Amino acid sequence: MEKEIKKAYCSECGSELEKLAACGSLSFWCNKCNELKSRKTVIYKVEKPEEESVLESEK
Ligand SMILES: [Zn+2]
Repeated sequence: MEKEIKKAYCSECGSELEKLAACGSLSFWCNKCNELKSRKTVIYKVEKPEEESVLESEK
C-alpha cells in the first residue's frame, strides 16, 4: 500500500497552495499571489512519501 500525497501548486508563482473547501467546491489559496486559484489552474503534483531507503547494512 502506497500513500500518495497530492499537492497543489500555483501555476503562476509555483508555491504550494492552501486548500479551501467552500460551499462544497474546492478551491485553492495562494499566499504569494494573495489570490484564490481555481482548480483548473493549479498544478497537481503527486508526492510519494519517501520510502525507507534500503541502506546496505554495515554490519
Ligand atoms: Zn501564486
